[in-house]
Amino acid sequence: MISVNNKDFLHTPIEEFIISSEKVAHVQVGNSAEHALLVLTKTGYSSIPVLDSQYRLKGLLSSRMITESILGLEHIEYEKLTDLKVDDIMQKDFPVIKIHDRFQKGLDLLINHAFLCVTDDEGMFVGILTRRVILKQLKRFIYSVN
Ligand code: AMP
Repeated sequence: MISVNNKDFLHTPIEEFIISSEKVAHVQVGNSAEHALLVLTKTGYSSIPVLDSQYRLKGLLSSRMITESILGLEHIEYEKLTDLKVDDIMQKDFPVIKIHDRFQKGLDLLINHAFLCVTDDEGMFVGILTRRVILKQLKRFIYSVN
């Protein structure tokens, strides 16, 4: 088991590790499933945030959610892609982290999620915190104390 004496780094604010919103691929409520599938496929991301026009966080969307929404009994109903809206498909219940939260909370939540959406006190989307970034920081810390 890893044992470190100084656990101060767990209290580091996550703010400095965030990928800021302007660098995050997203779709907007009202966008079609077809558009979302294009964005997901072109970026290669497994899941992206859904925002409203004011940049408030509304949901998460993955290619799997889109595929499931057009699965018919016998075949995939591709023709539905243009009419379906991301709002009808997106996941609305998922953990969110606040910009002033600490490293420890991010670490705990990222065990089960590849990334977390970060919001400010008004619920505005400010970016994402990824498992990759947190693991890099953790590695840096562990290597520096041994
Ligand atoms: P990574 O840490 O780069 O492997 O990213 C893990 C997941 O976080 C990706 O599959 C995406 O769902 C999400 N992600 C990472 N970077 C971005 C980004 N710039 N825009 C949108 N989603 C992202």
